[in-house]
Amino acid sequence: MGRMSFGPGRRSSRQPVKSVGPEKDPAEFIRNLKKTLPVKEGYRERSLAIHGLICARCGREFEPAQRSLLTVHHKDGNHLNNPPDGSNWENLCVYCHEDTHSRELLGEYLKD
Ligand SMILES: [Zn+2]
Ligand SMILES: [Zn+2]
Repeated sequence: MGRMSFGPGRRSSRQPVKSVGPEKDPAEFIRNLKKTLPVKEGYRERSLAIHGLICARCGREFEPAQRSLLTVHHKDGNHLNNPPDGSNWENLCVYCHEDTHSRELLGEYLKD
């Protein structure tokens, strides 16, 4: 008869090692990626949240349902310059935005 040699307390009480590393289904990962807004929509929403639903030029206010009429203008013209404090953004209604850019174009024209 062999001795059963595991007494009380002998059992290791180590915590189970947490498995590390990406064990997620890649398809799930891609689905999550698609759920996040594209960057250009991201700064738009942020700018609207910071500056409000109002055109910075004509002062027209918009209902949330009409928010698609408000666009984000980059003051320095660089669409890649998106400081999180919104300092390079201006909310312009589509009319003023178009006007702003056509003036810029005209300005470039006259300069040359
Ligand atoms: Zn406007
Ligand atoms: Zn613009």
